[in-house]
Amino acid sequence: MKKTILLALGLGLNCCGIDIDSPPTAGHLLPAWGAIKSPSDVERLFRSGQDTPKAIWSDRGFVILPVNFSEARHQRVTWDIKLDIDLRMAKGVQFDFFCRDPRPFSSFSLYFRSGKGWYHGEFTPERKGVWQRIIINKSDMQRTEGHVAGWGEVDTMRISGWRLRDEDTVCAIANLGFAGGKAEILVVRADSVAAKGGSEAKSFSHYAEAVSTTLDSLDMTSAQVSDLDLTPQILDGISLAVLPYNPSLPPEATAALKKFTAKGGRLLACYSLPQEISDLIGVNNAGSAVPDGGFSGFSRTTQGVRAQPNFAPQKSWRTTLAKTTEASQGRVAATWTDSQGADTGHPAITITEKGAFIGHVWMGGPDTATTALMRSLIGEMVPAFWRQTAEKALSNIGAVGGATSLDNLKEILSAAKPPLAARRELSKAASLRNRAQALYEVGEWDKCFAVSGQASDTALRAWMMTRKPQRDEHRAFWCHSAFGLRGKDWDASIRFLAENGFNVILPNMLWGGVAFYPSAVLPEYGELPEKGDQLAACLAACKKHGVKCHVWKVNWNTGHNAPDDFVQRMVAEGRVQRNSEAETSDRVWLCPSHPANQELEVESMLEIVRKYPVDGIHFDYIRYPGLTACHCQGCRQRFSEKTGREFKRWPDDLRGNDDGAVWQAWLDFRRASIDAVVRRVSTEARKIRPDIQVSAAVFRNWPIDRDTIGQDWKMWCEQGWLDFVCPMNYVDSNAVFLNMIATQKDFVGKARLYPGIGLSCWKDSRDPVKLAEQIEITREQGLGGFTVFNFDANAEAVLPFMRLGVTAETGWRSGMWPFK
Ligand SMILES: [Zn+2]
Repeated sequence: MKKTILLALGLGLNCCGIDIDSPPTAGHLLPAWGAIKSPSDVERLFRSGQDTPKAIWSDRGFVILPVNFSEARHQRVTWDIKLDIDLRMAKGVQFDFFCRDPRPFSSFSLYFRSGKGWYHGEFTPERKGVWQRIIINKSDMQRTEGHVAGWGEVDTMRISGWRLRDEDTVCAIANLGFAGGKAEILVVRADSVAAKGGSEAKSFSHYAEAVSTTLDSLDMTSAQVSDLDLTPQILDGISLAVLPYNPSLPPEATAALKKFTAKGGRLLACYSLPQEISDLIGVNNAGSAVPDGGFSGFSRTTQGVRAQPNFAPQKSWRTTLAKTTEASQGRVAATWTDSQGADTGHPAITITEKGAFIGHVWMGGPDTATTALMRSLIGEMVPAFWRQTAEKALSNIGAVGGATSLDNLKEILSAAKPPLAARRELSKAASLRNRAQALYEVGEWDKCFAVSGQASDTALRAWMMTRKPQRDEHRAFWCHSAFGLRGKDWDASIRFLAENGFNVILPNMLWGGVAFYPSAVLPEYGELPEKGDQLAACLAACKKHGVKCHVWKVNWNTGHNAPDDFVQRMVAEGRVQRNSEAETSDRVWLCPSHPANQELEVESMLEIVRKYPVDGIHFDYIRYPGLTACHCQGCRQRFSEKTGREFKRWPDDLRGNDDGAVWQAWLDFRRASIDAVVRRVSTEARKIRPDIQVSAAVFRNWPIDRDTIGQDWKMWCEQGWLDFVCPMNYVDSNAVFLNMIATQKDFVGKARLYPGIGLSCWKDSRDPVKLAEQIEITREQGLGGFTVFNFDANAEAVLPFMRLGVTAETGWRSGMWPFK
């Protein structure tokens, strides 16, 4: 009885907070947060969403957020915190967050209300039951809802945790403050132009984001600012302003930038060269060039800047031609290379005494030469950055896999009993670090930066060498190209895969409307006479190098290589999908309920089983694109016949006014069209060859996916139609990745779960540590395999690290490996 009363008073929940440790101390607190000191402050500033429990103050300086998913049915728990914050100059926000158990959540959202709209971002607590610092950059909050009034007008912060399981837990928050130090570079977003709408509105923030991402990877402290917020005060203390794609500037912004450059501030402008920007930088707009085949990248000229790479790749399709003025003393630091590798002579990067101009938008990307180009440009304009980047590179040595320094890494690794090779790498890293330190002390910034990079790579190798391999594992890569790695043939591609300890490839050899081998069922790809049978070439390489081959089909989607006459014939025969939005047709996808399309899907996959000694066949896109498909007249007629109903208002009548029975029947009808293809391919393929393996790439969340996209993959597993299934768990967060697997294990029945790892989709698509960690999560979960997306340049960058430990026993180091 006593307990009940306590709970009713909310004190019971307070008890939940007792075993939460005190949060770490933190600087840079938001003034409004620092003022929270009592239960009444929390009462005043926090408001819970419907059915969400109240936030509770803890005397030890944090706020407890109780989570009640077991009793209430809400989709999320939500707390609004009333705070007036000016975030114009901040890189973002940070706070310490505690989550006793992240498993009840699918994800967390963070919102800032500004005017009549919201900025939206996401975060993930990676570890359970400990405080961890969450940092959310403004550049990661590009998604807005409603009409936002700028980062200077934020009045509310909202935290939401989204339901995954019906279980209770407790979260807590502390130390809300500004992220990072003060920005020295501003990226000026063209919000004034975006506000006018138009098809390019999203591009302005997209290319601002590309610049911010490159600056982040260079460890340079930058902030994004709206061109509507640009004032002389905002530019105070800033060394460099970047105009990523600004077709025009508001007059106030132009005036502020004019003052800024007059006081020695530098400008880096990309692509757009209206008169106001021309005047600021000192280059004239001399028209544009649009070459056949586009450009392939930046070539250094004899007037290039210090540490500029000779070539940095970037695929641009046009350039603005800049002409230097006499007064600005400009020079061309890089020219454009065409798609064949020849120098076009068109200026790509022009340097002036006020800054620099790049002829096209900056696309960034993971290539080290591209990043090095940006670093050299910034170093040229603001020499102090050389010192800062050197300092940061020096202090980052050894920060691998959670270690904070090289000494800390040594401590952590010594617990793992490192093999001799790893110990050697560690001492090599230490001597490189000492050399970098010495270079720093004599002011050799760029040399210090380069040697620090070598030391970091060496420390990374040491960490990789302490990872343990696991035997008898299905280690797969999807390969989206039907031709293997760029610049390599299938033999070289598969040899590279095998040398790095992987043993399965899933090459994408056929789509809804094209085959990359001779086919009697599907149209053949246009270059078949010259380039030949890609499946045969891939299989020969797999046989030679001991790699298993499961052929990947993109179902329904005809693909951009499908011949026009085939697509036109499908349209004429009423075999393509239509969706409900203003009856726009989707010429690309075949309608799954059309019997001839089902036949085409089934026969195209069986043809492979009959003609080629493949190990397996693999479905992808085995689904609808979304809830609004397919609403073609064929679906209308076939669904009418199925239900004995007439649909006068199509497709509106599907939602109907009855008890929802029509809608449920419609969802069943959609699923049945997809199910039929999976069932037929699976049963008939096994009749042809009983040892064939059948598998599918699927969406992550089966209970939702079976309705929204008609993908009932749990049932396919239960029926035994699939031997293994690969949910595309393409998430950056290891905690979310683990959470997804833990849930999916309940769905696969006797089928094996080889989850998709999203290497190429991560924010850093060349992160070997995360790849190792996510592979290790599949091992901890006892899955026996995994499937990485995608076999491309990113794979080429990270695979050599995997064979140092994670996949070592079949790799080149097998003879040396001590864990056998
Ligand atoms: Zn249809």
